[in-house]
Amino acid sequence: MKRLLLTLALACPPALAQTTTLPPGFTAPAGYGDRIYPALGDAGLDVTHYDLSLSATPGVDSVAGRAVLSILARRDLSQINLDFAGPGVLGVKVDGRAARHAHVGDKLLILPPGVLAAGTAFTVTVAYSGTPALHIDPADDLRLGWITQAGGSYVLSEPDGAHTFFPCNDVPADGASYSLHLDVPAGFTAIASGVQTHSQMRAGRVYTEFEQAAPIPSYALTVHIGRFERVTPPDAAGGIQIRNAFPLGLPAEVRATFDQTPAMLGVLAGWFGPYPYPVYGVAVTEDPQILALETATLSTFPARQETPATALHELAHQWFGDSLRLGDWSEVWLNEGFATYAELLWAQSQGQDTAPLLARWYARLARAPARGLVATQARQLFDANSYYRGALALHALRLKVGDALFRQILSTYVARFSGQSVRTADLLGVVGQFGGPAALEAIGPWLTGPEIPALPTTGTF
Ligand SMILES: [Zn+2]
Repeated sequence: MKRLLLTLALACPPALAQTTTLPPGFTAPAGYGDRIYPALGDAGLDVTHYDLSLSATPGVDSVAGRAVLSILARRDLSQINLDFAGPGVLGVKVDGRAARHAHVGDKLLILPPGVLAAGTAFTVTVAYSGTPALHIDPADDLRLGWITQAGGSYVLSEPDGAHTFFPCNDVPADGASYSLHLDVPAGFTAIASGVQTHSQMRAGRVYTEFEQAAPIPSYALTVHIGRFERVTPPDAAGGIQIRNAFPLGLPAEVRATFDQTPAMLGVLAGWFGPYPYPVYGVAVTEDPQILALETATLSTFPARQETPATALHELAHQWFGDSLRLGDWSEVWLNEGFATYAELLWAQSQGQDTAPLLARWYARLARAPARGLVATQARQLFDANSYYRGALALHALRLKVGDALFRQILSTYVARFSGQSVRTADLLGVVGQFGGPAALEAIGPWLTGPEIPALPTTGTF
């Protein structure tokens, strides 16, 4: 995400209120155990695939949905706990059999017919319909999740908006693949994360299907419904299909922000290794106020002119955040530090002097409350440390080991953990493997803080 770095308000943890009375037979869910959002998710679940059917009418704040979750039990389960603050539940089945459930607060609690032993694969089907939950991100007062405007709808969920419109294990540590079946009125277009596999008009509705085969975190899933012009420029190197969705009438200067996507893909692949998906593109909303977000294979942008650096930043997140996903929200610097540093790699590839950029990052960092890179509170997640301290940590590492080894560290880290969740220790394992103790010593003070190390000025690049 490209944050504006506004003054952040205190975040309220999304949680089932402790005082909520549960119906007989149900127990309070324990959560996944994320350090920042401990109440989200269920550590007993490994959701491997979501099959989502969503029907919507632009301008109407309502979704009719059917979600089929393929789940692996990580421990013996006598109750299944999903995050779901969204529309009213019409029915729940476990392995095709009706199951007792309770929709309480932000949780959908389900009693399977019998205990599901650890290692069991099973499905949960949830039918629902109604108004998506209203979830305002306390960090910036912006709505998260399924958002309806006059001319359409879109999805923007980081960090925890996905469960406003579908039941899920809403922690990035549990990534999954997706099949999407979208149903909108004729004259409108639905576009989403993944590869479009089918589109058909039937009885005044358009049915469109998408497959997101590689696992992604739930917050990275997006859907856009509106009146779009689909633009497909020539494919980038490596056969990546590019498709952009621009609202009709979007000014040419806003579109032009994304002209360099093929070149950006080439530069980033040179450092990180192959782009992780078969398609990429951007969807521009009609809203000029939202923040750009790295929604998987289809980054979401506001209807205002953005800099090429922002376009590049969201593209870089496809590797760092979407493909390599967070093991815990406290280490979001593994997303933002890398995406920010990618801006420098791009600027350098364009022959720009990067010294002013580094100085700007350092100055912004120096103005912020200093901390080590592992966050302890929600309001720290998207602060200057995650972005600039994270980026400067990578710069310090690069100066210590040189470009060839830095490139090897980045591409090995990506190749080793593609499609998986990562922790800072995973990165350090690769840094130590290729760079040895000296490399770990160079990055160490940036990780631990709170003092800000001196800006690296000498090195081998
Ligand atoms: Zn970002």
